[in-house]
Amino acid sequence: MSCMCPLFRLPDPCLWVRLQRLYFLPVFVQVVLAMPYDTPIPGYMNNTVNTMRLWSAKAPNDFNLKDFNVGDYIEAVLDRNLAENISRVLYPNDNFFEGKELRLKQEYFVVAATLQDIIRRFKTTKKGSPERTSFESFPDKVAVQLNDTHPAMAIPELMRIFVDIEKLDWDTAWSLTQRTFAYTNHTVLPEALERWPVELLEKLLPRHLQIIYRINQLHLDRIATLYPENMNKLRKMSLIEEDGCKRVNMAHLCIVGSHAVNGVAEIHSNIIKTDVFRDFSEMEPQKFQNKTNGITPRRWLLLCNPGLAELIAEVIGEDYVKDLYQLKKLLEFVDDAALIRDISRVKQDNKVKFAQYLEKEYRVKINPSSMFDVHVKRIHEYKRQLLNCLHIIAMYNRIRMKPAALFVPRTVIIGGKAAPGYHMAKMIIRLITSVAEVVNNDPVVGSKLKVIFLENYRVSLAEKVIPATDLSQQISTAGTEASGTGNMKFMLNGALTIGTMDGANVEMAEEAGEENLFIFGMRVQDVADMDQKGYDAMSYYKRIPELKQVMDQITSGFFCPKNPDLFKDVTDMLFKYDRFKVFADFEDYMKAQEKVSKLYQNPKEWTKMVIRNIAATGKFSSDRTIKEYATEVWGVQPTDLKIPSPNEPREAVVEKAKALRKM
Ligand SMILES: *Cc1c(COP(=O)(O)O)cnc(C)c1O
Repeated sequence: MSCMCPLFRLPDPCLWVRLQRLYFLPVFVQVVLAMPYDTPIPGYMNNTVNTMRLWSAKAPNDFNLKDFNVGDYIEAVLDRNLAENISRVLYPNDNFFEGKELRLKQEYFVVAATLQDIIRRFKTTKKGSPERTSFESFPDKVAVQLNDTHPAMAIPELMRIFVDIEKLDWDTAWSLTQRTFAYTNHTVLPEALERWPVELLEKLLPRHLQIIYRINQLHLDRIATLYPENMNKLRKMSLIEEDGCKRVNMAHLCIVGSHAVNGVAEIHSNIIKTDVFRDFSEMEPQKFQNKTNGITPRRWLLLCNPGLAELIAEVIGEDYVKDLYQLKKLLEFVDDAALIRDISRVKQDNKVKFAQYLEKEYRVKINPSSMFDVHVKRIHEYKRQLLNCLHIIAMYNRIRMKPAALFVPRTVIIGGKAAPGYHMAKMIIRLITSVAEVVNNDPVVGSKLKVIFLENYRVSLAEKVIPATDLSQQISTAGTEASGTGNMKFMLNGALTIGTMDGANVEMAEEAGEENLFIFGMRVQDVADMDQKGYDAMSYYKRIPELKQVMDQITSGFFCPKNPDLFKDVTDMLFKYDRFKVFADFEDYMKAQEKVSKLYQNPKEWTKMVIRNIAATGKFSSDRTIKEYATEVWGVQPTDLKIPSPNEPREAVVEKAKALRKM
């Protein structure tokens, strides 16, 4: 056992985190120091700066001093690395659970540090408390929002603190815990759900596993009372999955340990209630809520698109920045010739600026008068970059078939990162760049169609490309995208959306009117029906000549003559085991794309639709989202911040700020 006594007093917020290793009898404890980094989060013109506290893992100064003293200097230094590795790197997976030991250590590390910090602050801010702290008011003062299941170990950790350290009885501790936690689900893809092997928890966090078992016992007792003689319910709702290797279902733990559970768009919250967590919502319907995601209009309009932000302010005033619903005032001006002209001018300026950026940074030339058709997001099969890719090839074939026919010029921009271990995502990028190589260098195509793969897609690049976009692609298989937020950013920046009835697209269509988006494809019910019948990719291939031609080209190596089998894994997947049914939506997608091109030929009507879209984005401000969490989940009401006027003397402002701090 390593020494756990610090040699000198640590700076106050530094916390000790113990990762236990129970090997038969002797207990090995890995001690890690959590060092806080406070990141300021300034509010927008509200005299408030919140802090986000992030943690870094540090080896304590006495770490393995014994090894050092007996001369094993190398071992001692290597062990310091072991501790500090905990916060060295973020696992880059996208919607994929990889049950790695270091990942579990990371999740527990941040949870343990944060809860110790919360408890310390709760105790120090309680004035005139008796000998033993009363935790009665804990859930009134503390709200913990579990952002996905990644911090789920906070539930057994808080129980451990209450029961083992603070000596509360189990039932009191459990009631406080449930009232403190709420859980947000972010995906329904089964491969993304965290299910930690019991064996790993036993090795790393044995006491937490005991606590989870006790939570589960009481949970199952309750189910047995509510549904007598229903073994199937017990099996389906247990926190412990018994088939194959024993695992803890972390989503089940979060639902049981929380007073509120929510999805991130209406359609997603409904899927949770009727499908993934159906038994839980039947048992406790009052726990289940919706909180539709939002985006901040400060970053995603004012900062990234000042031209559009100022134009809107000229028409409806500046108040929309803090109350995005006010954008609906723009509806009065849909037919205003000056606004139509100015909106399209701002877009054109943004497109020219982005084209210049691409030319300078990547030495690629694009035509700013072509339609900018943009599909940027993490590369994933469910987001269906492949459907977009098939459309590009079909457009290419149409141009080559009738070079003299009218074609509305397009620049298709696809961008996004593939997780390093996701082979199919990397092959999708490879296909896009191969198709781009052929299309961009075909003299028959000329400037009608260009395909750009945008490397290193990240927020700073999103801020550049989104304001320059005409068409936003949001084409996931219905029922797979929980919400999406990229869709909202594009809508706010004056792009039109081609999309499926999935995630927040559904609410975007509701807010703007379905006739103001290019909605296509299967609905959630259609996908479910198809799963019942069985999806037969080959039948679409045989029936749709354009799809057949596109697939034959990819299969024959047309886009990679030097290595004709390069895309075999992609084509095999599309034909034989495509969980996301790309072919099933191909035909309707092509038709929707034709409508897009047709409207783009009429710039005035296009821009009027853009204005109707911008006017309908009020709901998608994160201000609305946060307000809903505050009132409906955390039970907190807004306070009047008494924002000082700019001419108020500095001393008065400071006094007011001090008074607020004490509250
Ligand atoms: C908003 C954003 C996303 C999320 O986009 P979706 O289309 O909702 O998947 C991903 N990456 C970056 C850089 C973003 O800004």
